[in-house]
Amino acid sequence: MSIELPLLPLRGVLVFPYMVVPLEVGRERSLRALESAMLERRELIFVAQKDIRQDNPGLDDLYRVGVIGEVKQLLKMAGGGSKVVVEGRARAKVLAIEEADGYYRATVEEVEEVTEGGPETEALMHAVVELFEQYIKNSKRMPGEASLSMNVDDPGRLADTIVSYLDVRTAEKQEVLETFSAKERLNKVSDLLSHQIELLEIEKRINVRVRKQMERSQKEYYLREQLKAIQRELGERDDQQSEIEELKARLEQLGDVGEEIREKIEREIDRLAKMPPMAAEAVVVRTYVDWLLSLPWTVTTPERLDIQEAERILEADHYGLTKVKERILEYLAVRQLSKSLKGPILCLVGPPGVGKTSLARSIARATGRNFVRMSLGGVRDEAEIRGHRRTYVGAMPGRIIQGIRQAGSKNPLFLLDEVDKMAMDFRGDPSAALLEVLDPEQNVRFSDHYIELPFDLSQVMFITTANVMHTIPRPLADRMETIVIPGYTEEEKLHIARRYLWPKQREQHGLQENQIEVTDRALTYVIRNYTQEAGVRQLERELGSILRKAAREILTGRPTPIRVTRSRVQHYLGPERVRHRAAEQKDQVGIVTGLAVTEVGGDVMPIEVTTMPGKGQLLLTGQLGDVMQESARAAFSYVRSRARELGIDPMFHESLDLHVHVPEGAIPKDGPSAGIAIATAMVSALTNTPVHSDLAMTGEITLRGRVLPVGGIKEKALAAHRVGIRELILPEDNRRDLEEIPRPVQRAMTLHFVSHLDEVLQLALRKRVEDHVG
Ligand code: ADP
Repeated sequence: MSIELPLLPLRGVLVFPYMVVPLEVGRERSLRALESAMLERRELIFVAQKDIRQDNPGLDDLYRVGVIGEVKQLLKMAGGGSKVVVEGRARAKVLAIEEADGYYRATVEEVEEVTEGGPETEALMHAVVELFEQYIKNSKRMPGEASLSMNVDDPGRLADTIVSYLDVRTAEKQEVLETFSAKERLNKVSDLLSHQIELLEIEKRINVRVRKQMERSQKEYYLREQLKAIQRELGERDDQQSEIEELKARLEQLGDVGEEIREKIEREIDRLAKMPPMAAEAVVVRTYVDWLLSLPWTVTTPERLDIQEAERILEADHYGLTKVKERILEYLAVRQLSKSLKGPILCLVGPPGVGKTSLARSIARATGRNFVRMSLGGVRDEAEIRGHRRTYVGAMPGRIIQGIRQAGSKNPLFLLDEVDKMAMDFRGDPSAALLEVLDPEQNVRFSDHYIELPFDLSQVMFITTANVMHTIPRPLADRMETIVIPGYTEEEKLHIARRYLWPKQREQHGLQENQIEVTDRALTYVIRNYTQEAGVRQLERELGSILRKAAREILTGRPTPIRVTRSRVQHYLGPERVRHRAAEQKDQVGIVTGLAVTEVGGDVMPIEVTTMPGKGQLLLTGQLGDVMQESARAAFSYVRSRARELGIDPMFHESLDLHVHVPEGAIPKDGPSAGIAIATAMVSALTNTPVHSDLAMTGEITLRGRVLPVGGIKEKALAAHRVGIRELILPEDNRRDLEEIPRPVQRAMTLHFVSHLDEVLQLALRKRVEDHVG
């Protein structure tokens, strides 16, 4: 059945059945068609024009299938145009078109929709909906509500609805419109959708490529970010970052170190932050910064100085040493009164193990200072005191700064050990550097080559130690106040062992007082037969090994208490280690026991003289220094000049040589005091007269045989006593030192004070000479 309706040509849009479409109508011909429709049944036939550019489409420009639709709303616009909302009702074929009154009228025939149901159609619908959903997802242009409207269960309408949303050319939509079978329409829509999706995909790929190109400019930035991420992953950058932060935090904690130091440290930290963390240079800077940060620039321990307390501590820690303690207390008192650390530096001189270090520790304790100890033994380079410049590979601060760091405060007690063992060579004089360290005028701004910043040493209390005085460099010695600790007698050692060393070692080995005890006889036995020293270091070690072995026995079930007696000492320590020379020796010709002060305190020094055929030569071998050679020559001259009186063939020098030998072992550090011993040995050898073996002597000799005073009387007496000497010959002028010699030692020996060699010979040689001297 055909009807006649006004025709409205569509540009770019299509109206589908059941669809509500807003249209703008502006063309004259269309407005007329609309008008006449409004006058009739408000229905029009909407037909798309083939070419949308045509403003005035001719009959051939119009498709022959359209949709009959009803005008639901009409709004007249200013300027003559209208806005209408139309609803499609049914497809229709255009059978004929004619011009009438300035618009087209068409004869149309409504098309019967053919709807074939069935599973195939259903599956098709399903597929189309799915495709459509995919399309919506990929297309940004789709309105959100589009998917909701898919609740359509008529296949024909579904196809129409979907195609109306698609962004496709009019011709394609028209094709769908002209397909009357619902199933076929669905197929067409499905094809369209697939094609569209493909297009969208391509579009997306193109987009990505475009974006990539844009990104190239940002690529570097990204790469850098990535690099950081990688480094972070490897723990590098992060480490460095946190390291720098940590360093900065440490700088904060340093407190008020002053501008100069703070700025320097900040600068170095900044330098470090800019370096690759693994660079060699970074290692150097890092070490340097670490040094700067760990110096106690502002740290001081609260100082206290209570002389009575100091006295108590010194007493508690050390046996005897009355004079030494007194002098230390005087020294402290003076410093306290003058409230400054100017004035001489204390120097404790004495053989090893006499308690120099432990005295210094006690002083530190008594004055509330941290204690630090640095040995100067073997230091031969100024740089060891003052550091190497940082340009050096492996440069380090000098020992002073090292010690300060170790001390952790800027006012410690700094013990400089072995100042007498410093050597001087081409690399510079370390003692000059040390002088600067010790000088209160200069050490306020002590500059270490490595640190490069001045460090204030003026609050440090320096104490030095030495084994012997005469090798201390002169300018240093002048700056110091020496306190000599000569060594201990057997009795003193016994006390020290009983009261200090034994309890200390016992605790260190984890033993209780009620688990082990030791007899005095056992202690004395250890002192006499296992040690030979001026101090008590060896003794302490031996006691330690007794306790160690006893502890083991206790652990393996030996009943306690263990009582350490003489025989148990042997059990623990093995055979006696020290043989008593003098005591065991027989009187011999040409052998005299001299006495010397050595590094390890006083010592006995056997002097041997033999004669042999020759021409009056004096042969000197063994440990003779220059000074000792001098005194050997003096002795030789004296013997020659007094040959007749001494009962020696005055012409002996024409047929005999004299050989003087000092066996190795005892290394005397002072020269001339062996003079009378050498002379006596010569006379003994030349007259073939034995020398009393339990006698020892010391004294310088002049060309005329006068005996001059010597030093180290106490050390020598102790040494003689230690080896069982019973008679001691000393220069008359040394009588004033008598009180230095401990009472028990005096009691144990006969002391002879002499002023001439003749007296010596009388005492020392067995007989025969007696006949000639007088
Ligand atoms: P030095 O520094 O002179 O070589 P140390 O100070 O190291 O000697 O002393 C060695 C050991 O002997 C230390 O354990 C010390 O406590 C102890 N000692 C030395 N002299 C005495 C003493 N008079 N009283 C108590 N213990 C002492």
